[in-house]
Amino acid sequence: MNPALRIRLLMELRRSGIADTRVLAAIEKVPRDLFVEEPFAHQAWDNAALPIGCGQTISQPLVVGLMSQALEIAGRCKVLEVGTGSGYQTAVLAQLSRRVYTLERHKPLLTQAEARFRLLRLTNIVAMHGDGMRGWPAQAPFERILVTAAAPELPQPLLDQLAIGGILVTPLDTGPDRQDVVRVRRTEAGYSTETLFPVRFVPLVAGVPEDAG
Ligand code: SAH
Repeated sequence: MNPALRIRLLMELRRSGIADTRVLAAIEKVPRDLFVEEPFAHQAWDNAALPIGCGQTISQPLVVGLMSQALEIAGRCKVLEVGTGSGYQTAVLAQLSRRVYTLERHKPLLTQAEARFRLLRLTNIVAMHGDGMRGWPAQAPFERILVTAAAPELPQPLLDQLAIGGILVTPLDTGPDRQDVVRVRRTEAGYSTETLFPVRFVPLVAGVPEDAG
């Protein structure tokens, strides 16, 4: 891996609004080339989304950075991620948190991601096959929740599983052909939502595929 490519990406992320030094350090540390498929290895350090199989994509590094930053993860958070995909965003979150629980509905993607976590000795990640729209009730509440697929509306089980004082970040369908990342804060008084920036994500899909095995 060419270190110059890594530095070029980090400079681009800084210019584009990633100011949180912990997030920048996490992105610098996680070898994105391990999370893309062989034909795309030479593009691993480009600021681009790439195909990962099962019709899904590994998110663009800028979006991973902005969403991680929006979570305002402080020290020892317990985090839930919905949509493991390649596991890249999970690995970035693992640098920032105490423990990351991650759910993926495509079994082959989950199996590959778990192999990467083992290779990188990321022992604070717990991954499971399942429908992330239902959350992970046995491990709730979570101080932070990140969804990496676009939901038509905020999934109620995830709102329920967010701790008081917690933050949920998700892409949401906000109009015909429009998605925005929104941040939901939960307080004693209830939930408050703010719209952060436009994005383009694959859809959040309920249930697991028939051929999941
Ligand atoms: N964070 C990933 C992005 C993967 S794309 C990465 O960095 O690679 C979004 C992922 O969400 C896809 O893998 C898709 O299968 C998954 N997904 C969509 N709906 C889901 C659901 N209801 N439960 C779990 N995973 C879901």
